[in-house]
Order: sequence, then C-alpha cells, then structure tokens
Amino acid sequence: MAKRKKSAPTASPHFLVVGAGLSGAVIARRLAEKYRQPVLVIDQRPQIGGNCYDRRIANITVHRFGAHIFHTNNQTVWNFLSHFTHWQPYEHQVQARVAGKLVPLPFNFGTLTALFPPGLASELEKQLLAEFSFGRKISILELQQSLLPPLQQLGQYVYEHIFAYYSRKQWGGDIALLNPEVLSRVPITLDRDLRYFRDRYQGIPAQGYTAMITNLLDHPFIEVKLKTTYAQISKKISPQKTFYTGSIDEFFDYKLGTLQYRSCRFVDELKRQAQFQPVAVVNYPETQDFTRIIEHKHFLNEHTPHTLITYEYPEAFKLGRNERFYPLNDQDNNDLFARYQKLARQQPDVVFFGRLGDYRYYDMDQVIARALEIKI
Ligand code: UDP
Repeated sequence: MAKRKKSAPTASPHFLVVGAGLSGAVIARRLAEKYRQPVLVIDQRPQIGGNCYDRRIANITVHRFGAHIFHTNNQTVWNFLSHFTHWQPYEHQVQARVAGKLVPLPFNFGTLTALFPPGLASELEKQLLAEFSFGRKISILELQQSLLPPLQQLGQYVYEHIFAYYSRKQWGGDIALLNPEVLSRVPITLDRDLRYFRDRYQGIPAQGYTAMITNLLDHPFIEVKLKTTYAQISKKISPQKTFYTGSIDEFFDYKLGTLQYRSCRFVDELKRQAQFQPVAVVNYPETQDFTRIIEHKHFLNEHTPHTLITYEYPEAFKLGRNERFYPLNDQDNNDLFARYQKLARQQPDVVFFGRLGDYRYYDMDQVIARALEIKI
C-alpha cells in the first residue's frame, strides 16, 4: 500500500478494527477483554452489524440483508455467542415453488411424494435407498453420477427444476464454472426431515442480531465510529495492530484489480394479512426474476395482524451502489485474491479475515470460529 503521510497521532487507539460486522465485533471484544487497551471499531456504513443487521419495521424484526439463521455444530462458537444473546429456538424450513406447488427443500422423500405420482415416488425412494443409505445427504452431482438410469433421470430433474435457473439468477453466469461446493450446500436428503440445517445448535438471537452485536461491542475499551472508512482513519491514527474485515482489494486501493462479488436488491412489501407463506423462506427455482421471498415474522415467531415480506433479486456487486454479499470464488477471482494475499504478507501489522477479508463463502458460525482462532 502507498505510504501515507501521517499527522502526529493523538489518542491513537491501541487496536483498530475495520468493520463492525460479526468478525469485527468478535475480535474487538477479545482484544478489549485481553489487553484492556483502547480498541477503535470503524465501519463505513451508518449502522453496525454488517450483513447481519436487522431492525424492527412495523413491529417485525426484519433481516435487512437477507435471512440469517444461526446454526452450528461447534460448541465453542455457540457458547461464546451465548454470553451475548439469548436464543429463540428456531429450526429453519424452506419450501420451493416447483411445478406450481410448494414442496420441501432440501429435496427429500417428501419432495418426491409431492412432485411425482405415488407409484413412481415410492419406486424412486426404493432405488435411492438401494444405492445410498437412509438419512444420507448426497450432492446433486453425486445423484447425477448414479449408474442407475432412473436415478440419473431424477438427478437431471432435480438439477433442472431446483438448481439450474436458481443458480443462474443467483450467480449471474455459467453455472458450470461454479465451485461444486456451492451446490452441495443444499444436498438431497434421504429421509423426511424437513429441516434445512441439521446442526446440533440452531436459533435466532432473541432480541435480534443487531442487539447481539451491540452487546459484543458494549465494553469500556471499545469505541465505535460509523460512516468512517479505513482510508479516512488511517491518515489520522497509528494503531499497533489493525484487524481488517473488509475486502482485501479495497485495502490495497484495487491496485491489482477488483474482486468480484454477488449482491442483492431487496424489495419489501407490507401486507395486510397475518401470514403470507407457511415458512420464513420460499425459493423460486423455476420462475420469476427473484430467487426467494422472506417472510420475516417467522424467525422470532412475532404475532402481528400484518406481515412484511422481502423479495431477493440477485445482482452484481458494484462499488458505491450496493453491498458485497457473496464472493464469486471462480478461478480468476481466487487467483487475484491469492495475489492480494501475497501483498498482505508484507503487512505484518494487519490481519485480514472474515467473509470479505478471506474471500470465502463462510457461514456465520465459520466467521465466528475464525475470529476466535486468530492469535491476538
Ligand atoms: N440453490 C439452488 N436452488 C435452491 C437453493 C439453492 O440452486 O433452491 C443453489 C444456489 O446456487 C445457491 C446455493 O445452492 O447459491 C447455496 O444455497 P444456500 O441456500 O446455501 O444459499 P444462501 O442462503 O447462502 O444464499
């Protein structure tokens, strides 16, 4: 990074944390507790919480940047967060509108029954159980590679009706270039369990994510400055160490090029009815320009005579126009990220991490685990 002329630092914090999302809040808390030295947390947005930010609109807690369901098998992560929030028990269920019907997702035996005549559904169930074992999760690619023709046909059906168009909308390009891990996030499950996630610990912060992150940042040694960019603050202060959770290309002023991300446009509708859809998220894998509709009141089981729904329209990330949500992680972008990482190694006083800093499609629990593992 170009050397900046610094004015004499006054009251410089000991540590600078860039980004007040989950990663930044966790590291700030750890630093404040361990060193009892000033930690300054900055964020360029006008609010804390990163993409977990939620707020109440018309008495409903709205996940402003898309549905966030906390789920993990990592007890350390769960215990850590539980110091900062109570949990509303919540097990996520998703339905998809396929062939004009609402069917369970992940694709499971219930989905087979909903979509196919009873004889065919039970024949396919038998074949699936003969090839794989009950309760297993298999990826769409595994199903397509089956040697049994009826299962190959099923694989083709699921690919076309669940994955192909949804993924084109979501990722905006040739889905053959997608990392197979992305599609295997939504497996085919060989049972009738309707839960989207099977993790041991699941829930939604009872007062919302913003409240949980406020609690994380609520420490006498932590100061938060919003609407402040790293470029602005780094001219004024000289922290001993910086913890950077933004996009690494931005840190280096895009000098090697721009990392691509997918973003989303959210369109809200307040409806004069108590419920719009049976579950919090309904996916539209076959039709429409949006990928899914969120009905927020399901998360915290909020009772209101009205409801608020949000349509998600994926779009490319454009600097200054929308926010970074999903790293693209194709070969070109991963290569560019690796070149930025080389530069980062020449910055021993800066640690890069988080979904943006690591350019990885982390879930929230992975974000927390990473922020807990960083040596401080
Ligand atoms: N996906 C799909 N159809 C669906 C749901 C998911 O094709 O109905 C694919 C799509 O490529 C998506 C990926 O699976 O990006 C991961 O889905 P997930 O629900 O984990 O995405 P997230 O909630 O993180 O946006």
